[in-house]
Amino acid sequence: MAIKKEFLDLLACPQCRHALRENGGGLECVKCRVLYPVKDGIPVLLPDAAAPAGAAASGGANDGEKA
Ligand SMILES: [Zn+2]
Repeated sequence: MAIKKEFLDLLACPQCRHALRENGGGLECVKCRVLYPVKDGIPVLLPDAAAPAGAAASGGANDGEKA
């Protein structure tokens, strides 16, 4: 689910206020090197939800939260 660029421009990393970019279905802060999940089209910009940005690309089997 793509995020509109105008919307993305309004968002910022909650930790460093740096801009975010789309990365594999999430939003990556290129400064913190963390990836925020996007659930149902809603970015979850919580430090607790952030994952290391490299993890998604390193072939992990992590498919999200287990309820
Ligand atoms: Zn950041």
